[in-house]
Amino acid sequence: MRIDKKQKKKEIVLKIIVTFGLVKKLIQVTTMSNKTKRFFLPEEEIPHYWYNIQADMVNKPMPPLHPGTKQPLKAEDLYPIFAQELCKQELNQTDKWIEIPEEVREMYKYYRSTPLVRAYGLEEALGTPAHIYFKNESVSPMGSHKLNSAIPQAYYCKKEGVTNVTTETGAGQWGASLAYAARLFGLEAAVYQVKISYEQKPYRRSIMQTFGAQVTPSPSMSTRAGKDILTAHPNYQGSLGTAISEAIELAQTTPNCKYTLGSVLSHVALHQTVIGLEAEKQMEMAGEYPDMVIACFGGGSNFGGIAFPFMRHKILEGKQTRFIAAEPASCPKLTRGKFQYDFGDEAGYTPLLPMYTLGHNFAPANIHAGGLRYHGAGVIVSQLLKDGLMEAVDIKQLESFEAGCLFAQVEGIIPAPESCHAIAATVREAKKCKETGEEKVILFNLSGHGLIDMTSYDKYLSGDLVNYELTDQDIQKNLDEIGNLA
Ligand SMILES: *Cc1c(COP(=O)(O)O)cnc(C)c1O
Repeated sequence: MRIDKKQKKKEIVLKIIVTFGLVKKLIQVTTMSNKTKRFFLPEEEIPHYWYNIQADMVNKPMPPLHPGTKQPLKAEDLYPIFAQELCKQELNQTDKWIEIPEEVREMYKYYRSTPLVRAYGLEEALGTPAHIYFKNESVSPMGSHKLNSAIPQAYYCKKEGVTNVTTETGAGQWGASLAYAARLFGLEAAVYQVKISYEQKPYRRSIMQTFGAQVTPSPSMSTRAGKDILTAHPNYQGSLGTAISEAIELAQTTPNCKYTLGSVLSHVALHQTVIGLEAEKQMEMAGEYPDMVIACFGGGSNFGGIAFPFMRHKILEGKQTRFIAAEPASCPKLTRGKFQYDFGDEAGYTPLLPMYTLGHNFAPANIHAGGLRYHGAGVIVSQLLKDGLMEAVDIKQLESFEAGCLFAQVEGIIPAPESCHAIAATVREAKKCKETGEEKVILFNLSGHGLIDMTSYDKYLSGDLVNYELTDQDIQKNLDEIGNLA
């Protein structure tokens, strides 16, 4: 009898343990199946319109000024440089939605929609209660978001009878994207690449050449702008500003040739809004809405691309989302620059733009996020920052690579050195959430992958990279030199 009772008791305990185990397993399985990693949109959900935030802004950007007359620029003034449709888009402050041509949507289909990804690996590594999402623009054929604007720019040029396009490129992402887009629409492309990038990142040059583009390191002796700078500074390693001057000069002296630009200008940010418009639908699929939207910042195109569609709900409905631009500490135009009229290029060929700037004469340190080495910010973003609709943080080079390596190890994607700045800013915010216990939703843009930037990672891993300190005097000296231009 006693043995029987004991046996029964044992069986009951066993049953409880087994049942408890099963229930636990069941809970694990069901919660796991709810853990969707990536959110995709079907092709028909790729946006049919770009979003023009200028139409919704209460304080519109101040007008670009003609550098000679100092009068507000009209679209026609830009026709000699850019395709006409792009000039109209640049100054359009009334049409909220601008139709994406069917030919452009067809080419978007080669890689869009891009996935929205929940960064479970990063969340776990940081032990943060925050929900971290990223929009993965690195899946484009060229490995970055830049193709989103290269395709429409080449398309409009072709449609208007242009045969040649020129441009400048820093790290090479824009040049590669334009080279490919030019090929798609049967145009010849000539690219000026910042010399330091031309030398540090030879594979991007090979990519451009694979698509048939002609690539020249800048500064070069082939233009007046290049010659002037090389005469004054024979060892100058180049900057985006100089390369822009060279490309514009070539466009102005070559028949049937237009200049194209991969960042800074308003029409570029307009094209990039496909990122945020897709992300908006994908966040809905995930059943969440971002408390913070973060992107790295060079001239503002990938930031504007992911931020503007969400910002319209802040402007129109008072949503409290924070928008954070992450710029390099060595090129801090948003956090330490001055809002004033300045040229977009070093030689002073472009219109005067009302923007946060370090001065068009600013020569940034040779940091490895080449795409972020630009002296100014686009006019839309500059106005939004002035109006307090967004914020900016600066990130030191070593912190950016540290965040990038962590991200690579836990998410399996090696980020572009530029994108590492967005990741570092995200890590900072996620750590704050860990301290406060807040379950904030963070969305950041992964603007590109770093598989062609491994030279930079090599330098970081072998301890050869340093942080660059920029003093207030350095910055003030540049601004004093350019003075008041408007
Ligand atoms: C060009 C580039 C950037 C910086 O340009 P924005 O116009 O500020 O977006 C950032 N990330 C990558 C991968 C780039 O190629």
